[in-house]
Amino acid sequence: MRLEYTDAQQQFRREIRAWLQSHLPKQPLRSFDTIEGFEQHRAWERELSTGGWSAVTWPEALGGRGADLIDWLIFEEEYWAANAPLRVNQNGIFLLAPTLMEYGTEAQKKRFLPRMAKSEDIWAQGWSEPGAGSDMAAIRCRAVRDDGHYVINGQKTWSTRAVWADWLFGLFRSDVDSQRHHGLSFILLPLNLPGITIRPIRQLNGMTGFAEIFFDDVRVPVENRLGDEGAGWNIAMATAGFERGLMLRSPARFQQTARALVELYQRHRKSADSDPSIRDAVIKSWMDAEAYTLATYRTAGLLAKGGRIGAESSTNKIFWSELDLLMHETAMRILGSHAELMPEAPDAGDTAYWQDGFMFAQAGPIYAGTNEIQRNIIAERMLGLPR
Ligand SMILES: Cc1cc2nc3c(=O)[nH]c(=O)nc-3n(C[C@H](O)[C@H](O)[C@H](O)COP(=O)(O)OP(=O)(O)OC[C@H]3O[C@@H](n4cnc5c(N)ncnc54)[C@H](O)[C@@H]3O)c2cc1C
Repeated sequence: MRLEYTDAQQQFRREIRAWLQSHLPKQPLRSFDTIEGFEQHRAWERELSTGGWSAVTWPEALGGRGADLIDWLIFEEEYWAANAPLRVNQNGIFLLAPTLMEYGTEAQKKRFLPRMAKSEDIWAQGWSEPGAGSDMAAIRCRAVRDDGHYVINGQKTWSTRAVWADWLFGLFRSDVDSQRHHGLSFILLPLNLPGITIRPIRQLNGMTGFAEIFFDDVRVPVENRLGDEGAGWNIAMATAGFERGLMLRSPARFQQTARALVELYQRHRKSADSDPSIRDAVIKSWMDAEAYTLATYRTAGLLAKGGRIGAESSTNKIFWSELDLLMHETAMRILGSHAELMPEAPDAGDTAYWQDGFMFAQAGPIYAGTNEIQRNIIAERMLGLPR
């Protein structure tokens, strides 16, 4: 085994670094949970796509660079190290796109992917319903066939960035007499159709990062279905695998937070060292971020040899979400009473960065399937324990 980069990979790294240095926005963008910030992030995605960097692993013909997973990890390392903006279209580019490439028709790929690469369409995910979160097979939102269309009625909730997004991919009950994971279809629809009402939900930091979506006789052409009618569950499980597995949270994100945490600790060392458990937590954070990186390189190697990610994507999801919590909780402990300052306070410094991250880290064990559910999956499918 050679744990070093090839010349071509090092050249790829230099190319990304140079491109980012000359293209990064001069001023930090506003949060993408505000309308101004959302559009600023859309413009940034468009800029990224001019260099083929918005979707590096996609084929060139569709707007990507045809990069393999190791190149993607290198891209992510450079991207996070440069403190580049968060990715507003990640639901589309990292979750829906791989699903479309596997299950979409050629016409669907041509229709959706090039626009997605340029973020002309920003995508939201519509799976959860008020009575169907962890128990997603309880989905009740109906899509009934009528004259070449599906007529959709019901409600979705917790849909990230659906307030301003252009399109939604969701799971709907197309066979109204079906039970559980049978009779569900995977449908793509524009969020400006007549009969759709979108209500923003305020999140912990006061911004509207989420929405609930109401469907009242919404007509969607049948050709917007991905895969066969009634086969939506299996397709959604493939998307969930991409979400928990590799693409949603690359290790570089956590390496960058770990570096920032070490730097924070060094700045506050005098007070932080009064409690040795803080130092231990900083060291553990850094080591775990490195371990997650190495484990991801291993997974990328397995995939390159034709392997697939199975239930082990659940162990990944638990690992990164708990690591994110540990890092932000440790930062709050280092900041002590300063951690409670409002971002606009004169003495706030980088408190806002850590506060915001701390609040978002609370959601990590919930989204992409709660950690309790992931533990069930590990127990049943990896360890063979009884249900
Ligand atoms: C930041 C964020 C972004 C999100 N984005 C989206 C999105 O874009 N699109 C979307 O569709 N959804 C989204 N969600 C919703 C998310 O998928 C759900 O919140 C999640 O699946 C849990 O469902 P629930 O909230 O209904 O909780 P519930 O399913 O009601 O669970 C409540 C508690 O019970 C536990 N529990 C439930 N069943 C079991 C069981 N069988 N065994 C053990 N424990 C169990 C859970 O772990 C949890 O602690 C998002 C959520 C968050 C926090």
